[in-house]
Amino acid sequence: MIDRLITDATIVTMNPAREVLYHAAIAIDNGRILDVGDSEQMTARYPDVKHEICGEGKAVFPGLINTHNHLFQTNLKGMGDDKVLKDWLNDMTYPVGGKLQPEDCYTGALIGCIEGIRSGVTTQLDYMYPHPMDGLDDAVIRAFSELRIRAIFGRGYMDCGAEFGVREEIMQQPTKIESDVRRLVNTYHGAENGRISIWLAPAITWGTSEACLRMTARLRQELGLRLTVHTAETMFDRESTIALHGMDDMEILEKYGLLDAETLLVHCVQLTDRDIRMIKYHGAKVSHNPVSNMYLSSGVAPIPKMNMAGIDVSLGTDGAASNNSNDMLEVLKLTSLLQKVTHRDPTIMTADKVLEMATIEGARCIGMENEIGSIEIGKKADLFVFNPERNIKAIPMHNPVSTLVYSSAMENIETVLVDGLPVLEDGVLKTMDEEIVIQRCRAQADELAQRAGTAWLKRRPWQSLAY
Ligand SMILES: [Zn+2]
Repeated sequence: MIDRLITDATIVTMNPAREVLYHAAIAIDNGRILDVGDSEQMTARYPDVKHEICGEGKAVFPGLINTHNHLFQTNLKGMGDDKVLKDWLNDMTYPVGGKLQPEDCYTGALIGCIEGIRSGVTTQLDYMYPHPMDGLDDAVIRAFSELRIRAIFGRGYMDCGAEFGVREEIMQQPTKIESDVRRLVNTYHGAENGRISIWLAPAITWGTSEACLRMTARLRQELGLRLTVHTAETMFDRESTIALHGMDDMEILEKYGLLDAETLLVHCVQLTDRDIRMIKYHGAKVSHNPVSNMYLSSGVAPIPKMNMAGIDVSLGTDGAASNNSNDMLEVLKLTSLLQKVTHRDPTIMTADKVLEMATIEGARCIGMENEIGSIEIGKKADLFVFNPERNIKAIPMHNPVSTLVYSSAMENIETVLVDGLPVLEDGVLKTMDEEIVIQRCRAQADELAQRAGTAWLKRRPWQSLAY
């Protein structure tokens, strides 16, 4: 007897041949994909099944991988609209970052991850950088465990940067950072059947001193941890890094041995051709966050150039304070449209390429391409069932990849499996009572705005200014 059989579906495998199988089935047992093939033959081969999912008229995709988020920011949706980056940081993000409590991080992570699940995400990378008190990291990881998703927790940090506007209350000394990273690794790395892992996440090169970068390199070697860092989001990043270190972000990372195949660079908007060659040479990976880049007017990352150079590029939402959601379906569509309009070339970014970036290329970016990112025998059963009939936007579905990227809505994501078990089934969240989470988060977000003194942002006085 096997655990689960998805029958008679269109399966977008994302295997090396990028096969799409029609009237096909997926057999799942013990959390992994046991078999993939013709539905009739598979039904005969596996007569004893604990749970059958009828895939008629539906498509099955590998779970999406969101490689950049700040889940605490889910509490801040709509509070930082229409602001330049300096005001966005000073009016909202820094004041809130300095007042965060565990309950804020917990409810923010729950809502953010549930939105992710409802948009087909099975793996989330959270990048938690403000630590005004202990216990915030544990609150985010608790949400991961309770929702039973696959997650990477990037332990973020800053130890300097006052001259560039970083507030004291979110800076930490390298010794404190190191002891907390060790605690997190000992407590959580590999927990939940391997679904949780811990990464190092120095927030930004102009917010980390040379001593802090040296500590990062040493810990990375000793503990074998991967690394993610914001890089070249704006020219301000590059100029501030040069002011602090006397060299730009790519050079300083290279100098400390922090630019290699286990490094995930976030944003990479303001890249020179030399930077692209350096990223390629070192085999570093990239997380592209087009919605956030548009929202904050950071610019357009040179994704086609990176694709052509053979650099692995994944996709992320970024935090909901600069998005304002955790919806990966929006990211898929806008990844394509942004490059098309920028290059005045509709062929430059196809739906198929976008899906690659969100699945198998995303898996390569986090070092998990042998475990997730495609529907292949032996891999973990992280996937979702897409039902076009659940939202009229997806009707008719001529080509499932096109439909997912350009014509889908969250309601179309019918069932989501992680490690072979449903976290969403027939549109219902399985691991928690979603209505209770919604009410709890609404109250918590209001309370946080009062505590941080940011409630005035609800009034948006700048919007009344006339030209
Ligand atoms: Zn970010």
